[in-house]
Amino acid sequence: MQTNLADLIKDTHEGREAEAILRTCVHCGFCLATCPTYQLLNDELDSPRGRIYLMKEVLEGRVATQKTQLHLDRCLTCRACETVCPSGVRYGRLVDICRNVVEKQVERSVRTKTIRYALRQILPNPSIFMVLLKIGQAVRSLLPKKIRNSVPSKARDEGVWPPARHKRKMLVLDGCVQPAIAPNINAATARILDKIGISLIKVEKANCCGAISYHLNAQQEGLDYMRRNIDAWWRYFDNHADHGVEAIVMTASGCGVTVKEYGHYLSHDHIYVEKAARISELTKDISEILEDEAEKLTPLFNNTGSCTKRSKLAFHSPCTLQHGLQIHGVVENILTTAGFDLTFVQDGHICCGSAGTYSILQPQLSKQLLENKIKTLESSKPAQIVTANIGCLTHLQSGTPLIIKHWIEVLDEKLCSH
Ligand code: SF4
Ligand code: SF4
Repeated sequence: MQTNLADLIKDTHEGREAEAILRTCVHCGFCLATCPTYQLLNDELDSPRGRIYLMKEVLEGRVATQKTQLHLDRCLTCRACETVCPSGVRYGRLVDICRNVVEKQVERSVRTKTIRYALRQILPNPSIFMVLLKIGQAVRSLLPKKIRNSVPSKARDEGVWPPARHKRKMLVLDGCVQPAIAPNINAATARILDKIGISLIKVEKANCCGAISYHLNAQQEGLDYMRRNIDAWWRYFDNHADHGVEAIVMTASGCGVTVKEYGHYLSHDHIYVEKAARISELTKDISEILEDEAEKLTPLFNNTGSCTKRSKLAFHSPCTLQHGLQIHGVVENILTTAGFDLTFVQDGHICCGSAGTYSILQPQLSKQLLENKIKTLESSKPAQIVTANIGCLTHLQSGTPLIIKHWIEVLDEKLCSH
């Protein structure tokens, strides 16, 4: 694609990056069929290719309108289009850059600005979120059904977190909303890793990965969250440290995809560039860790005896896992090896509609995607549905009476360690 970027962005690192991305698109349209919003709205401007045209126009100097903003807002940033693109167009990065430009040109309504600001203040702040969640849970039964379904019910008991007794150690990101909604996820991870000789350590000062603010176009704020996490983790990895820490484990694929890209996000920050790249290298999704440790893990499944019976599971692979991290089949393989029967899920590549704050900011499209997803997940009558990201877990739970869990929780139950 020929480009001629406007002065407003031409000589910035974002401009150079956007230009390089735009030039890789050959307009083939292979991405259209896989785009959830194009499937629902059947409008080229709600497809990846259409949005790329819109973004090109804005970056070339045409002033964005509310319509431009609407089409970009409707994008889930699910990155399904990246998975199928034969030219390797890094659509997710392009939309991040362009949304920031549009945000400066198009004034949002006071109501929308307030909601977006509140989301940035509440979600990344675990203590505020915990208080509000507890209030919501206390009055849950009094709320209208529509709102009630979106308030997560009380968290499952997290059980025991094993003491740090092994030589091999890994850090884990607690994240922002996960400790309040599902503390059992990280505790289950700690128990499983403990069984294969790895101690899992929480680092108090590492919290939100920065994705919420960044994707709400408060990009500097998002970068500050990233820097804070790097500072919190760095003492375990600097050259003089000998803590025996091998990796940083992510149990929410949404955070994982962000932390794995810290090196890129901070590539223009001369103070953090090297540390960020190192942190990204050390970051692994829990499925990658368990895949690497298969030799130690697999024999444990043979000793589960009568603890759990064989059960049918439907696995929803989050977009951040399959399109962002490009991890395919790893969780499925671990669950099958553990003795679970996995159902076939039609259109498994399509987003469930959670997409960070999308379910709040685009409720209608999100609801449609949720209904479609629940239908496909339930079609083979699974006993349970499992996923790999707290946002998807909460969103899916709002659409079904079936219990939704993180896949690591059912693995923990299988090993009778909860
Ligand atoms: S598939 Fe890739 S190259 Fe083709 S139109 Fe979509 S983004 Fe452009
Ligand atoms: S990121 Fe998802 S919603 Fe956005 S254009 Fe790509 S496929 Fe469509």
